[in-house]
This record gives sequence, structure tokens and C-alpha cells, in this order.
Amino acid sequence: MPQTKIVLQCSKCQAQNYVTSKNRQNVPDKLKLNKFCAKCGQHTAHQEIRLRK
Ligand SMILES: [Zn+2]
Repeated sequence: MPQTKIVLQCSKCQAQNYVTSKNRQNVPDKLKLNKFCAKCGQHTAHQEIRLRK
């Protein structure tokens, strides 16, 4: 299975700050990462949302 494109979205302001990819077979769970959000001006929890191809 190919890499799937995903977007990491700030859980506070819903800004879509990062685009990355992952292999859905190796990483079946939703990603949740602490990343810097420029809108919030701080590190916040970012969670994965799927991009449509
Ligand atoms: Zn934010």
C-alpha cells in the first residue's frame, strides 16, 4: 500500500499547519503530535486528518 497523504490540524484553532504522509498499514492509528502552531503562537496538539486524493 502506498503512502497516504495526511494533514496535521491544530486541535485548538483548527489551522491545518503541516502536511505529511504515512503508511496506513504500518501506522493504523490516528497521529497525534505536539507541534508549533503559528496561529496559536504555541505548541498545541495536532491531529491527523485525511486528504482526499
Ligand atoms: Zn492553532
